[in-house]
Amino acid sequence: MAYEELYKKLDMDIEKHNQLMEILGQVYQELFLSRKNRPEGMNYFDGVIAEIHGKRIEELFALKEQGRALVGTFCIFVPEEIVVAAKGACYGLCGGAQFSIPEAEAHLPRNICPLIKSAYGFKLQRTCPYTQLADVIYGETTCEAKKKTWELLSQLHRVHVMHIPHKKETLERELWRKEIERFKVEIEELAGNTISFENLKEGIETVNAKRNAMKRLYDLRCKDGVVSIAGLDALLVNQISFYDDPVRFAQQVNQLCDELEERIEKGISVFPEDVPKILVSGTPMAPPNWKLHSIIEQSGAAVVAEEACIGARYFRDNVDVSGCETVEDLIDALLERYLKIDCACFTPNDERVENVIKMCREKRVDGVVYYTLSFCHTYNVESKKVMDRLKEEGIPVLRIETDYSMEDVEQIRTRVEAFIETLR
Ligand code: SF4
Ligand code: SF4
Repeated sequence: MAYEELYKKLDMDIEKHNQLMEILGQVYQELFLSRKNRPEGMNYFDGVIAEIHGKRIEELFALKEQGRALVGTFCIFVPEEIVVAAKGACYGLCGGAQFSIPEAEAHLPRNICPLIKSAYGFKLQRTCPYTQLADVIYGETTCEAKKKTWELLSQLHRVHVMHIPHKKETLERELWRKEIERFKVEIEELAGNTISFENLKEGIETVNAKRNAMKRLYDLRCKDGVVSIAGLDALLVNQISFYDDPVRFAQQVNQLCDELEERIEKGISVFPEDVPKILVSGTPMAPPNWKLHSIIEQSGAAVVAEEACIGARYFRDNVDVSGCETVEDLIDALLERYLKIDCACFTPNDERVENVIKMCREKRVDGVVYYTLSFCHTYNVESKKVMDRLKEEGIPVLRIETDYSMEDVEQIRTRVEAFIETLR
C-alpha cells in the first residue's frame, strides 16, 4: 500500500483503515462517479477524495516536519485565519461516518449526536490520519455533548477548548475576544513565532478569497432556471473546503465556476427544467455523510443550497479588514465576523430564522427539508421556530431527523418522495 509507511509513523491501525477506505470507495463510486452529466471541474474534487488519505496527508506531514502548526477542528467557530497566518494548516475532522460509531459507544452514551460519536470513534480506532497528525484538536463549548466529550478526548490527544458564549451581549463579546487571543497565543507557541499584522492580514485575505469562491459557486448552482451542478456535488465541494489547501481550493472552485457559467449560458442542466428546488437547512453534514442529499436527488428534486455550517453559514460573511492598522484591529474584525455565525447554540437566535427565509427567496426554492441529526437538541428544538416561520411565508417544509445508519433510508425516501410530489 502506497502510504503504509506514513500511516505507521502516525500510529494508525492500518488494517481497519483499509476496511474504511474500501467502504468509502464503494459508496463514492455509487453516489458520485456513476452519475452522468457532472461538470468536468468535479474531476479535481473526485481526485481529492480518491487521495483523501494520500497526497493531502503527505502535504500536511511535510508541513509538520517544517514545524508548522496543524490544527484539527469540529466547528466553524475556529478562527482558521490565525492558523493560516502562522503558515500552518487548519482542517475539519470527519464526523460523518457510521464506521467508527460502535467503538465510540463503548465510551459515550448511545443517545448523543452521531457527529460527535463518529469523530471520537476515529480517534479510538486510529483510522483517521488527520486526527493522528493534529498537533492540537480544537474543541468548543457549543453543545453539552461536545464539551463533555472533549474531557475524554483530551485523555487521548492534545485538545484546546474554546469557550463559545451562548448569548451575543457585551460581556460575552469580551469573553469571546479573549478566547480568540488565547487561541492565537497557543498557535504562536506551536509555530514558535509571533503572528505579525502582515501575516494575520494575509491569513484573513486567503480565507476571504476561499469564501468568495464558495459564494460564487452558491450563486451559480441554480441560475436562470438552470441547475448547473447537482446538490450532492456542491455539498462535496463544501465538505472539501475544510481539508484542502485554501489557495489551491479557491483556484479550483473558481475554475469549476467558470465552467458552470458556460453551462448556464448553454442551458446545460443536471435536472429537467421543472425540477423542484430544495433548500436543506439544519445540522452540518460532515463527510462522508451524503445520505439526505442522495435520497432527495434520487427522488427527483435538486438541492440548490444548504443553510448549514457545511454550506452557506461557512462562507456567507468575510472578515472586513478595511481600516485595520494593528493586530488588535484585526482581532476585532475577526470577532465581528465570527459573531455573525447564527448557530443554534445561541439564544435567542432569530437571525437564523430570518436567514433561512432570505436564502429561500434568493434561491427561489420550492420547499425546505429541515435536517437534524438525532439527539442534536439545539437544532432539533429550533426547528419549531424555523418551520413556523416557513409556514407563515407559505414555503412547504419537511422535517427529517436521522443518524448515519442506513436502516431508515427507505423510510426517509418514502417521506421525501411524497413531499416532492406535493411540490410539483
Ligand atoms: S452547527 Fe454550531 S456547533 Fe456545529 S459546526 Fe456549526 S457552528 Fe459549530
Ligand atoms: S450536530 Fe448538534 S449535537 Fe451534534 S455536535 Fe453539532 S451542535 Fe452538537
